[in-house]
Amino acid sequence: MSVVTRFAPSPTGRLHVGNLRTALHNWMLARKAGGRFLLRIDDTDAERSEERFVDGIRQDLAWLGLTPDGEERQSARLTFYEDAFARLRDAGRVYPAYESAQELDLKRKIALGRGLPPIYDRAALALSDEQRAAKEAEGIAPHWRFRLDHDEPIMWADGVRGGQSFDPAQLSDPVIRRADGSWLYMLPSAVDDIAMGVTDVLRGEDHVSNTAVQIQMFTALGAAPPRFAHEALLVGREGKLSKRLGSLGCDALRDAGIEPQALVAMLARLGTALPVEPIADRATLIETFDLATFGRAPARFDDADLERVNAAIVHQLDFAQVADRLPDGMDDAGWHAIRPNVAHVNEAGEWWRLVTGPIEPRSFDAETRAYLAEAAAALTWSETPWQDLTAVLKARTGRKGRELFQPLRQALTGRDHGPDMAELLPLIGEGRARARLDAAVRD
Ligand code: GLU
Repeated sequence: MSVVTRFAPSPTGRLHVGNLRTALHNWMLARKAGGRFLLRIDDTDAERSEERFVDGIRQDLAWLGLTPDGEERQSARLTFYEDAFARLRDAGRVYPAYESAQELDLKRKIALGRGLPPIYDRAALALSDEQRAAKEAEGIAPHWRFRLDHDEPIMWADGVRGGQSFDPAQLSDPVIRRADGSWLYMLPSAVDDIAMGVTDVLRGEDHVSNTAVQIQMFTALGAAPPRFAHEALLVGREGKLSKRLGSLGCDALRDAGIEPQALVAMLARLGTALPVEPIADRATLIETFDLATFGRAPARFDDADLERVNAAIVHQLDFAQVADRLPDGMDDAGWHAIRPNVAHVNEAGEWWRLVTGPIEPRSFDAETRAYLAEAAAALTWSETPWQDLTAVLKARTGRKGRELFQPLRQALTGRDHGPDMAELLPLIGEGRARARLDAAVRD
């Protein structure tokens, strides 16, 4: 059976790094197995779902290069949920309940006050037909709960957490449908996973108890449950669930100069036993992806790590990958010269000004000016002007190392540090090089 995974965001906001990580892992799981990765838009909540967020989700996945092999939307599939609901109701697995939110709250408080877990007491299940009719005559429309089967423990072999066992009696029968007929997440998700042939559900560990419930739904609907894996949540460097991470998304990261490849390389391995490395080649990341390497401890997202990975990725990017973000006139050779000096692509312009000018004027002492005058006289132009110039100057002046190079760099670029001069000087060109040396001598 070929592997099918899905990423199932609710379009009620933009994706944050935690969601992106789940999307990436599902994509990698499918790619590694030569299977399919689906995007499922969980938009049954019509009030909170917004089209702009659907677009945002698509854009974010595209930016990261996580192309789905198919897209489905829950709002277009309501009849399937209706069918499943009818089947479950006929089988006695769904029942109407009439408690108001306040009543439920009170029940929870009473249970907690007695030191009991706040599990729904199934009072609605005990209602007689007459009692139900009376509620409805009062104008109370029911919401609907899925009746958990209490007979056996719910067990599964979790891809990350290992063997799991839940006592269903310790869980509340989940509300699956509101009084207004709208759907909660739980049943539509199971219906879709069955319909779409999802073989592997990989999601955050906040869904572990949902899995217990959904396994019973799969069975009640006559389907074998998929494999489940729940990854530990992403936390900030300090080890806490941070507000910032909960809102940090692709736009902010892109604006901060983070490359999608860097985010992918980092999120691919964060929280696993594998080292986070600046691996731009996705094939390598996919090949080494393995749920068995995932740890149970929260994965720590550290901005400094991301910056480190980003800089190393930027140093690997080809001209074609960045051309549209470089200053006008900057060519392949220019990018190649400057690439090692930037941590973010948008810093290229700053260094490119050393080529195009104007550069910051520097003042030199008399001795250095004499040396630079000698340099101006010795400058010849070839494919390798820097090597030629420094070889001649070394021979003529006896200078070496810093003494030989630093005044030239300062005069030619206005800076103490910067890209490799052997690469930079041909880009600066003969005319500008002469003018800059002459200006330095005149000072
Ligand atoms: N829409 C759900 C969520 O965003 C999907 C969870 C799942 O993967 O089943 O939490």
